[in-house]
Amino acid sequence: MVGMRELLRTAAELAATYLDEAATRPVARPVTLADMVAALGPTLPDDGTDPAQVLTDLARDADRGLVLTNGGRYFGFVEGGVLPAALAADWLTSTWDQNPGFFALSPAAAAAEEISRTWLCDLLGLPATCSAGFTTGAQLANFAGLAAARHHVLGEAGWDVEQRGLFGAPPVTVVVGRERHATIDRALRFLGIGRDQIVEVDTDSQGRMLPNLLELTDGPTIVCTQAGNVNTGAFDPIGEVCDLASEKNAWVHVDGAFGLWAAASPSLRHLVAGVEKADSFATDGHKWLNVPYDCGIVLCARPEAHRAAMRLSADYLVRDGERHGSDWTPESSRRARGFAVYAALRSLGRRGVAELVDRSCAQARRVAAALPPQCEVLNDVVLNQVLVRVGDDDEQTRAVAAAIQRGGATWFGTTTWRGKAAIRISVSDHATGDTEIDVLIGAVREAVAA
Ligand SMILES: *Cc1c(COP(=O)(O)O)cnc(C)c1O
Repeated sequence: MVGMRELLRTAAELAATYLDEAATRPVARPVTLADMVAALGPTLPDDGTDPAQVLTDLARDADRGLVLTNGGRYFGFVEGGVLPAALAADWLTSTWDQNPGFFALSPAAAAAEEISRTWLCDLLGLPATCSAGFTTGAQLANFAGLAAARHHVLGEAGWDVEQRGLFGAPPVTVVVGRERHATIDRALRFLGIGRDQIVEVDTDSQGRMLPNLLELTDGPTIVCTQAGNVNTGAFDPIGEVCDLASEKNAWVHVDGAFGLWAAASPSLRHLVAGVEKADSFATDGHKWLNVPYDCGIVLCARPEAHRAAMRLSADYLVRDGERHGSDWTPESSRRARGFAVYAALRSLGRRGVAELVDRSCAQARRVAAALPPQCEVLNDVVLNQVLVRVGDDDEQTRAVAAAIQRGGATWFGTTTWRGKAAIRISVSDHATGDTEIDVLIGAVREAVAA
């Protein structure tokens, strides 16, 4: 048995080797679940194994199935890489094993969340009094924001949803754009709001909600806007929607998993003009802020509604007026995500965050401009997303993506945009430099030529 220090050194060595090899290793390798299960060893051992052995075996056996999402050459989904300070802080977070659910469990984790809250409000241009919860991702951030919305709009109608539940409650209408993210529907489902209560507003060619089609009636209403469409990067006209919604006392939620970070860049802030007028906001740490998985953030301009919707109480749980993480997220015990967020924001500073966002967007524009002539860019590249169609043909478009995925030099996925197959390219990793963009462009040129 090796000592703890040596074990952690081994982990550090394995991690550093992985990162060193990031420049050259394939982004992904074709492998099946059965291959990976077989590699990791499917039988539960009767006796224990030395921790150092477990670690070195794991690193060796998992290797073939690791997808290099943080080496700068990954453009699939909207993944984000990992900033050095955030990675190292995340290691300490595991070492410290802090639970931010209650202040008494970790005053340090509570402080990291509180400071991150104030910094996030500042960077994202939101009221300084917004409450914040640190969730697994934007899925649960959307859930928490919409739970606060449900509490508030029903409360305004004289209905205490926490006390009385939804049976017999006044109907809640939820207005969404046609191109909302799928996690909105799932969050609403968890909140007892079904498809029949959802009103879809049509969108323009970029996926932006058309505000002139917004017909709000009286009665409990929630409007879900989007900052950053997952395909095009486009923004709903949030400020305009907020003005229309305020006439009807409707709650406005903003799903800004990655797009909300436009607010942190002086040159892109206009894309979210008026966002400070909305009521709740969901964003991710693990996408554009480049903290390791997992980290989402819910912010709410009405902390009392946020807390009323999330709050957990039991006799043995100490409540002393300090920050309790469980007041702001659907989880009770959880990871102390505030440390990595704090480390990321501190290591970048205000200018560094803006620079990260601006650079990703500049690279997305560069990709769009440098693609071979057979490629058509389907979206206005307003942010970090590029939608590409090859030879105006579904099959060819998918074939190019498949060839690139097999090649291992880079990776992106496909989608269907307005009935047509398209390649989705997302630039959201701080490690993506000119070299990585050259690799991407080269790979597309080669695949298209073949
Ligand atoms: C990624 C994304 C989500 C979901 O985020 P998770 O972090 O996967 O939970 C929600 N909305 C939008 C717009 C997204 O891009």
